[in-house]
Amino acid sequence: MDYPKPRIPTFPILSLQSFAVPQGEHVPSILDFPLVKFVTSGRVAIALALQQMKIGKDDKVLLPAYHCAAMVEPIIWVGATPVFYKIHPDTSVDLEDVRSRLDSSTKLILVAHYFGFPQDMAKIRNFCDEHRIFLLEDCAHSFFGEFEGRPLGSFGDYAVASSMKFFPIYEGGCLVSSRHDLASLMLTSAGAGFELKAMLNVLEKGFEYGRLPFLQRLIHGPLRLKNFIWDTLKERILKEKSTLGPGASEGGFGFEAKWVSKRSALISTYLIRKVSKKRIAENRRQNYVKFLQTLTGLPGCYFLFPDLPKGVFPYVFPLVVDDPEKRFRALKNAGIPVIRFGEFLWEGMEATTCKTSVDLSRRVLQFPCHQELSQQEMAWMISEIRTVLLS
Ligand SMILES: *Cc1c(COP(=O)(O)O)cnc(C)c1O
Repeated sequence: MDYPKPRIPTFPILSLQSFAVPQGEHVPSILDFPLVKFVTSGRVAIALALQQMKIGKDDKVLLPAYHCAAMVEPIIWVGATPVFYKIHPDTSVDLEDVRSRLDSSTKLILVAHYFGFPQDMAKIRNFCDEHRIFLLEDCAHSFFGEFEGRPLGSFGDYAVASSMKFFPIYEGGCLVSSRHDLASLMLTSAGAGFELKAMLNVLEKGFEYGRLPFLQRLIHGPLRLKNFIWDTLKERILKEKSTLGPGASEGGFGFEAKWVSKRSALISTYLIRKVSKKRIAENRRQNYVKFLQTLTGLPGCYFLFPDLPKGVFPYVFPLVVDDPEKRFRALKNAGIPVIRFGEFLWEGMEATTCKTSVDLSRRVLQFPCHQELSQQEMAWMISEIRTVLLS
């Protein structure tokens, strides 16, 4: 289905305000680990974690029935067998169901903090210790956050995150471990072409939504030569999809083995260090609360997470709707960057594995609440959502 281009950015894009530092406390995140391995995507980080745990042929990996392909592909790639477990309607792990699926070849359970809201990690960690299986914490939706005073990612044997879902960058994922040594894991550069592409993409995305006006004027300015160089670069580098970049979260590409050993681009790690984490944390919470306040009482929908506890820094705002296909289409056609996590569940999974997951994958619509949305953009989005849900 061809929808119009979103009228506001789906993911964070660079602006000058990205660097503004508001007052406030330290924000717990995956960056709190003494050693963070910066790779090109979250899925690559999962593959590396599996390799570190020596998981392969004849091994089973438990993962939630509510998932995206990026969580399954690395498991298939190392030759292991994915086994899907049930979740509850509030997205918490159904540990009884997990228990019933354990056998002697089960090596690992993968647990995701959906939309940034933490699972009960104390309970899950105990469960894994009791059954002597590894725990992989998927923090793709929870780059920032804590559970019982500890940063998310610190409960698993390994944890992964998806940097581009939270930072204004083109590619990036993280791998950390609070229990195992990652110092010997060596990564190599993906080359100058990739570095350039990662850089151009950050700027181009900013330009696309009018975020870097001075720079844009400078580059597209009166100098024809500059203009020519910029356009040529863009043609040559940004259009070359398959060879020069992982294009993960947004691109919907599959899993490519060649990215597994590659370092994230310099511009991405630079921006992760430099942009304000407090602003990311604060703005995301504020936008989330705005959704709660303005969408309350609408017919045919409910909030998946009606509260925003301290220490939660949401990835998106999830809304559960009736008649999801019709609502989804209407919102997309209005230019709203709505997404559906798990819209395409793994084909090998029986639909009967977990009715709740199938239901959530259809009915939970997610709206961006990222730090780079302006007040006007939020107001516009909310008004469009209200119109669609009231129609
Ligand atoms: C996006 C996502 C991933 C994979 O991250 P990429 O950076 O897109 O490879 C893994 N797990 C979950 C829950 C995700 O949403």
